Amino acid sequence: YPPRGITSVCIDSREVRPGALFVALEGSVQDGHSFAAQAFEAGAAAAFVCRDALNSSLYKLRETAGRFGAVLLAVPDTLRALQDAARVYLEKFPGLVRIGITGSSGKTTVKEIAAAMVGTERKTVMNPGNLNSETGLPLAVFSVRDFHEVGIFEMGMNRFGEMEELAAILKPRIALITNIGTAHIGILGTKDAIAKEKKSVFSQFSGTETALIPAYDEYAQYLAEDIDGKVVYFGPGEMREFQGATDLGLQGMEMIWEGSPVRFGLPGQYNLLNALAAAAIAREVPVSAEAIRRGLESVRPLFGRSEIISGPVTIIRDCYNANPEAVLEALSFADSVPWKGRRIYVIGSMLELGDYSVPAHEKIGEALASSGADAVYFFGEETGPAVEAFRRSAVSGQAEKAAVFYSGDMDELSRMLKGYVREGDLVLLKGSRGTALERLTDVLSLSPAEQKGACPSVS
Ligand code: ADP
Repeated sequence: YPPRGITSVCIDSREVRPGALFVALEGSVQDGHSFAAQAFEAGAAAAFVCRDALNSSLYKLRETAGRFGAVLLAVPDTLRALQDAARVYLEKFPGLVRIGITGSSGKTTVKEIAAAMVGTERKTVMNPGNLNSETGLPLAVFSVRDFHEVGIFEMGMNRFGEMEELAAILKPRIALITNIGTAHIGILGTKDAIAKEKKSVFSQFSGTETALIPAYDEYAQYLAEDIDGKVVYFGPGEMREFQGATDLGLQGMEMIWEGSPVRFGLPGQYNLLNALAAAAIAREVPVSAEAIRRGLESVRPLFGRSEIISGPVTIIRDCYNANPEAVLEALSFADSVPWKGRRIYVIGSMLELGDYSVPAHEKIGEALASSGADAVYFFGEETGPAVEAFRRSAVSGQAEKAAVFYSGDMDELSRMLKGYVREGDLVLLKGSRGTALERLTDVLSLSPAEQKGACPSVS
């Protein structure tokens, strides 16, 4: 597989186009098998279905497939079949430079920057959005076409063993780890386990591949050990081409790359690291210094990642996702912006942290108490320990007192914020995807009448 003549591969029957291979996956909510007949009606040329799941209805589905001239392929495990198909599909492109990016934070950003750099000189394909999981990566792989020279793919994981499976599909020639943090620690238990899991991105190496390692990460040495290939470190002190950066606050920074200045529009120290990670990929491909500079110049923030929305109130919309390290990065960035008005930090729950959730939120609460915030709004019940830690730190005199609010309800939070913000404020939105803090964007985009509104007193 995949069977001949297949034009696309999908797992959602609503996306089936004529000639598609439909893969019936059993999700936690829906079972794809219930949609197989619909997929055939929409023109699917073939479907992977699970042998066991179908015992009762296999006969009927085979009949439906036959009626539409389609092929029904009953396999032991449809997810496995999808992954195998992706692996076999990629083998048809031996000349493609395959690049894999993993790490706790920054995968999508590094992928986008790297693709902007490499794409200026080489025909490049990357996973759309963040299709990076055990289903996402194989689906993304099917976007590779004959004319592509470089494929840049991010690889995420949610459970033990997943990274090795993804590496076996992609077999990256260049693999990069952005950093080791605590995202998904609820599943893997410890940071050591996360580092081990991420490190298996190199598991398919056979001597000729390149591992790109973040020199600044506390796990750098561990990540670089026993790799069957070349090891290259990246980071501010590691790359002779990088000759410094001037911070331009909300406007990003000006970097010097091989002697020439270049404007890079993503703000914050962590985005400098993301830019250097991407440059490490680009020079390994390789592409020219000019391509790297042009890539840096062309990058724009993606939805919810370091987006700056200017208006009477300036919003740092960084709420695509959150984990402890990402929140600390966001706070230090928001603190570092030269700003005359008030700073208001809206912090949503950090999810998927398991037993680590309470200490992680406490740490965030303490960090906020000593941050530059004039007011902090916590949102979501997981932030309870953060509120407590914030109050404790503030009382113990470690910090100047900022106003603090809590709500578990978006409507209430919106009302509170609407009554509080005024022209000239800087508002940071940071929280996990599940908290969807972008819902506050409209509330924060003040109407002209509200711009002059007085600020209600706060306690
Ligand atoms: P991922 O794809 O790994 O989830 P993204 O590139 O989508 O990461 O960025 C998501 C969020 O992670 C950003 O909004 C930012 O807050 C944080 N982030 C991005 N890069 C880094 C980094 N290098 N270090 C720490 N946090 C980061």
